[in-house]
Amino acid sequence: MSSSTPTTAPATSRTRTPGTPGRSDVVIVGAGIIGLAHAFEALSQGLSVTVVERDRQPVGASVRNFGHCCISAQDGELLALAQRSRPGWLRAAEASGIWAAEAGTLVVARSATEAAVLEELRAERGGDAVELRTAAQTAALLGRAAGAAGDLVGGAILPADLRVNPREAAPGLARWVAGQSQGRILWGTAVTGVESGTVHTTRGPVHGDRILICVGHDLDYLFPDIAEDHEVQRCRLTMARAEAPAGFATDSAVLTATSMLRYDAFTSRPSAARLREEVLGHSAELLEIGANVMFTRLPDGTVLVGDSHHYDATTPPFIDERGYELLIGAVARVLGVERLRILERWQGVYASSPRGPLLVRDLASGVRAISVTSGIGMTLSFGLAAATFDGMLAATG
Ligand SMILES: Cc1cc2nc3c(=O)[nH]c(=O)nc-3n(C[C@H](O)[C@H](O)[C@H](O)COP(=O)(O)OP(=O)(O)OC[C@H]3O[C@@H](n4cnc5c(N)ncnc54)[C@H](O)[C@@H]3O)c2cc1C
Repeated sequence: MSSSTPTTAPATSRTRTPGTPGRSDVVIVGAGIIGLAHAFEALSQGLSVTVVERDRQPVGASVRNFGHCCISAQDGELLALAQRSRPGWLRAAEASGIWAAEAGTLVVARSATEAAVLEELRAERGGDAVELRTAAQTAALLGRAAGAAGDLVGGAILPADLRVNPREAAPGLARWVAGQSQGRILWGTAVTGVESGTVHTTRGPVHGDRILICVGHDLDYLFPDIAEDHEVQRCRLTMARAEAPAGFATDSAVLTATSMLRYDAFTSRPSAARLREEVLGHSAELLEIGANVMFTRLPDGTVLVGDSHHYDATTPPFIDERGYELLIGAVARVLGVERLRILERWQGVYASSPRGPLLVRDLASGVRAISVTSGIGMTLSFGLAAATFDGMLAATG
């Protein structure tokens, strides 16, 4: 196991000159996963693409997350969109060489109520979609020593879910886009305004028949009225990377009771209300920081640990250490160890809205804004892109 610090590799070593003659079929603003999934889909359909990105490499939400394509935890229309995303991720991984594992999710149950929620989900979705595990099997997946099931009651594997490495997925896709004869990325180029057919940038105009604004939570900088109308907020999450305890080697994302309180597939189960009361009883502080106690393992063996949620129009710069103590302590208890050695800490921000999980808005002829306004942009990205290009994605307002 290595504890060396993985860095976000530069997506490309040089910045191409923007404003070069010619017009693209599609101009995309933002080289996060939403913009890049759309670029991948457009190029796959034979369209020419220009991506305009203000930074020199992807550094937004798309590289700061768990790399968890959390398909099974969605419900209703989002589940359908997430399921549509899955083959897109796999195709993009094959084309670009990025790591994408069909590793599924392990949901850990440490009380009878948590186990009941999992059983109810299995009753609805079936045993192929929700594979129940015993306490001993769950302990083994967590790498706990033999016979150390301790507080575990059971668990479930959700096999449809995917894992990617968030630190290389967007940069790797960006390299692939920039390497296509019909694709280019204009790094270090901020968009200042958009009208039909033209994106105005800090380096001059860029022209395209179709323009997609994929700037995540920063939509309010470009289109404040649209963002306010959809009540777009910033959700700040605290994250850390830890050394993996000996024995922990699964590529599955690991979710816990607080996760079950945040995803629709679980919250719509009959026992979910009882679960909330139970968690409130034993872990009120975790609920106060909006915790989703979960973790995923990077290919280098270290573990991404998180997270808490703070909602605001503007993200406060300061992070209370107490929140970290609570989160890291909670993850250590699930792993069955006394403490975790933390290697890095950071915060991530994504767009959120009380109005719904997606903002899809036509702003002018051929100009569309697409922001995922909940914490599932990695999960939905390729499904959204496919729906955009087959015309199935309707504007949400
Ligand atoms: C800590 C954390 C954990 C998460 N975990 C998960 C998870 O496990 N699974 C999941 O599905 N989702 C997860 N999410 C949510 C997911 O990461 C986001 O929904 C997704 O990355 C949003 O992608 P995006 O491309 O819209 O935004 P970003 O990745 O933020 O990309 C937007 C890009 O637009 C660029 N940009 C903005 N304004 C301009 C401008 N004017 N001109 C040019 N460029 C501009 C920015 O520089 C940025 O590169 C998590 C998020 C966080 C923060």
